Amino acid sequence: MTSRSATRVCIDAPGGPERMRLEQVELPAPGPGEVRIEHEAIGVNFIDVYHRSGLYPLPAMPSGLGVEAVGRIAEIGAGVEGWSVGDRVGYAGGVPGAYASARTLPAAQLVGVPGEIDAPSAAAVLLKGMTVEYLVRRCVRVERGMTVLWHAAAGGVGLLAMQWLREIGVTVIGTVGNEAKAALAREHGCTHPIVVRGGDFVARVHELTGGRLCDVVYDSVGRDTLAGSLACVRPRGTLVSFGNASGPPPPIDPLELGRRGSLYLTRPSLFDYTGDPQERRQSAAAVFERVARGVLRPVVGMRLPLQQAAEAHRALESRATTGAIVLVP
Ligand code: NDP
Repeated sequence: MTSRSATRVCIDAPGGPERMRLEQVELPAPGPGEVRIEHEAIGVNFIDVYHRSGLYPLPAMPSGLGVEAVGRIAEIGAGVEGWSVGDRVGYAGGVPGAYASARTLPAAQLVGVPGEIDAPSAAAVLLKGMTVEYLVRRCVRVERGMTVLWHAAAGGVGLLAMQWLREIGVTVIGTVGNEAKAALAREHGCTHPIVVRGGDFVARVHELTGGRLCDVVYDSVGRDTLAGSLACVRPRGTLVSFGNASGPPPPIDPLELGRRGSLYLTRPSLFDYTGDPQERRQSAAAVFERVARGVLRPVVGMRLPLQQAAEAHRALESRATTGAIVLVP
């Protein structure tokens, strides 16, 4: 008889990392359109912290956590086409529950993962790489010669962004929390890393750009940086607020966008840019194609057993990490 038992991390209510507990569950057989995946590596993303803390409310409690994993298909439900048992797959999005040794989920969420990339690297690059893909190609079309400001340049998303923008030929100013992160960001393509303490990056951006400021500012830090980020956008440039690592960003008055020179402001989400299966596959293919060419080099900064998922959250929230964190079941 097929064993469908799995270990998973769940929470009973929003709160700190101490709320995360392990449980043993018996998964249901895949229903119509579903597959069961045995995970090989699980990507940890800052959105998991927002889900756990309650900043992004979860639909039901108790709830699983995690929206990204890579593994192999172990079982297929009725009506699933295009996939076979044993296929190497991954997903980025959907109902939280990826912090698990295995799970059942809709086959429509899957993307193929090339055989050449090892599972931890794939879990380090899938969601974060797709994020960079839509942010620099579709949310804003970043072109050679532009100047971009990117916060948290040595983080999971940040290092991949440095690599991607280097290939386009962009001048990238990147904020980081310490000198070691600055060196790492530079190594991955950041033209001008800035070590920020107390949001003093605005004067430095003025200096580095000769007062011209930036065509695009990508802000995932939120509360601590958004006002400064606005001051770094050149007239007719774009401010992309795409995260809240330091807390929810403050409101921005539309009149302020006018005063600063007809600026654009957007608050995008990966899930709106990859909701359509074709877009999702194209986004993942663009990522894996860049991995194959050596443009993207996934950085697994921390690898932990699934049982230590709470440690992963503590490290991420304390700004102690570089690159991606991956959990291994
Ligand atoms: P990171 O690895 O980038 O970790 C977050 C980094 O933010 C930290 O390492 C730290 O870098 C910086 N930071 C600054 N202030 C704080 C603070 N007060 N608390 C914690 N971190 C802080 O995480 P991810 O790569 O997983 O995600 C990066 C960001 O991108 C997140 O905000 C996430 O929500 C967002 N995101 C948004 C998506 C979207 O579609 N909207 C999709 C995917 C990610 P340093 O010390 O160098 O300043």
